[in-house]
Amino acid sequence: MSIKQLARKTVRNLTPYQSARRLGGNGDIWLNANESPFSNEYSVSGERLNRYSTCQPTELIAAYADYAGVRYEQVLTSRGADEGIELLIRAFCEPNQDSIIYCPPTYGMYAISAEIFDVKTKTVPLTEQWQLDLPAIANNLEGTKLVFVCSPNNPTGNLIDRDDIEALLEMTAGNALVVVDEAYIDFCPEATTADLLGRYPNLVILRTLSKAFALAGLRCGFTLAHPDIIELLLKIIAPYPVPVPVTEIAVQALSESGRAKTKFQVLDISANRAYLQAGLGMLDGVTVFDGYGNYLLVRFPDSDELFKALWEHGIILRRSPIENCIRISIGSRDECEKTLAFIREQLTQNSEKRTAL
Ligand SMILES: *Cc1c(COP(=O)(O)O)cnc(C)c1O
Repeated sequence: MSIKQLARKTVRNLTPYQSARRLGGNGDIWLNANESPFSNEYSVSGERLNRYSTCQPTELIAAYADYAGVRYEQVLTSRGADEGIELLIRAFCEPNQDSIIYCPPTYGMYAISAEIFDVKTKTVPLTEQWQLDLPAIANNLEGTKLVFVCSPNNPTGNLIDRDDIEALLEMTAGNALVVVDEAYIDFCPEATTADLLGRYPNLVILRTLSKAFALAGLRCGFTLAHPDIIELLLKIIAPYPVPVPVTEIAVQALSESGRAKTKFQVLDISANRAYLQAGLGMLDGVTVFDGYGNYLLVRFPDSDELFKALWEHGIILRRSPIENCIRISIGSRDECEKTLAFIREQLTQNSEKRTAL
């Protein structure tokens, strides 16, 4: 018997998440993982590494609670927001019995985490305007424990209507949690639902330092929720989930000066996004969708051909499941200029080829 046969059936059949890193590529310009173009410097003491870390470092929880404007008891930290997704599924969903709902096109990890733990997935696609289909969600709530809502949504970039999120919270009260994934909320802080936490005990919010805080490599995320939910998640989290150096760096990032730096970098990225949106929008046959995160979803006449040409030229973007759409992370101004220039040149060449035929 091969070793592989020893694994759980679910694991043998699993297609893992196609992360940007896993997909590889050979480029000079990496705009495929919604990473920040800023590499900020931090200092690490390197002390006390002989001791285990604290499960939930007080200083870190206090700093994030202050940043998010919530109470200390409403915050949990984990290895990225991805671990938060996993903890929620493990804590709330009975395998082979309960389900989660998610609304494609959206972030891929909700489905993959559920599958890994043999939790059923129900999909209720977003409407044509990429908003929640509330009646369809209502029809699927039987046996559902978690409803994932991503806002700003990855990969479409739009915000989910706040009134709809509230309607969903009311519709699910007492039966299911609504998990609002706010991985990109620092690019549009006014759109947060964190102020609703006090009113809705079934609201959970996911946050991360990976995007606006430019710390994707740190692996530090947060779950904001009612203290009862935080307490449940703490029962199943690993004993030492946050490495000591991670806490040191995260606390610096969340300090007053760290927050000021992030704010400045968010403004810079937003200006680059506006530049790219305007530039691409001027090209024939190209549609740029309004985006609130550090990425834009763009529809091209022939996205496959263009994606490959960019890839071969060392500009690595992300394919999307939406027809003829590519997701472009917002990099530095130089990266945006080079990307725009190459796309403009490609599209002009292609339309000349077509005219010649
Ligand atoms: C990037 C991303 C995450 C994961 O964040 P980590 O903290 O790096 O695990 C979660 N949700 C969405 C929508 C994301 O785009």
